[in-house]
Amino acid sequence: VPGVFGRSAAFEDVVQRFDALVSRVTEADGAERMFFPPVIDRRIFEKSGYLDSFPQLAGAVFSFEGTTDVHHEALRARVHEGKPWGDLLSMTSVVLAPAACYSVYPTCTGTVPDDGRLIDTNNWVFRHEPSPEPTRLQAFRMREVVRVGTPDVVLAWRDRWLERGLELLHSLGLPVRPQTASDAFFGRGGRFLAQSQRQQELKFELVLPLISEEAPTAVCSFNYHQDHFGELFDIRTRGGEVAHSACLGFGMERIAMALFKTHGFVPAEWPEAIRERLRR
Ligand SMILES: [Zn+2]
Repeated sequence: VPGVFGRSAAFEDVVQRFDALVSRVTEADGAERMFFPPVIDRRIFEKSGYLDSFPQLAGAVFSFEGTTDVHHEALRARVHEGKPWGDLLSMTSVVLAPAACYSVYPTCTGTVPDDGRLIDTNNWVFRHEPSPEPTRLQAFRMREVVRVGTPDVVLAWRDRWLERGLELLHSLGLPVRPQTASDAFFGRGGRFLAQSQRQQELKFELVLPLISEEAPTAVCSFNYHQDHFGELFDIRTRGGEVAHSACLGFGMERIAMALFKTHGFVPAEWPEAIRERLRR
């Protein structure tokens, strides 16, 4: 299946070393660490509006809840005959996590402290976008940091991280640059949504020419959601206003690919400064 790969120990080691570097760089920030399984409650997913914007990327979990007869005569028979069998399954109460941060917002319901919340999480995420392009994975890991609070607090945090993200990736010799970006909104209204997202500068990405110069690859993205999640999950500031939120996410596999592309396939032969930076 395009976009679903196994990984070697060398590849995985680079992912883990980059993850450890992010932990070292952010240690003094005092973020709360949270860890979630790669599936989320379907009701949270429905509430998030993901299906309004990105139905084509979603992955819902279905399972068999039928009788022995249906199993024997219909399901097994169809599978073994190579016939479609999806209609014999039922929707379960979970979907695949579309982003690491989606699990975080429902935990923020209520009033956040004066200086807001800062949460650091990571997860496997799923995007249904099969492609032969090697950096476009259907399942990949994101290290995400989420900021929730007043608009001032959230925007100042986002702007500081834009600088910080650039510095962090430049320190690894990766030729990233920032650009405003938009999400792959679905359908006819999608183009308008994407345009408005760009105009309001709600999404930035750090990109580098991993596959081509013309279409650089994003390895880190910054999203300012304004009051979207605050409204949905009833998150309030001390002043009683709806809280704003922003997140930044590092695409772990893409960063590892960028490191191999930039420094070569043998990490032991990478420049000393880079290896020192990625010490465990
Ligand atoms: Zn996010």
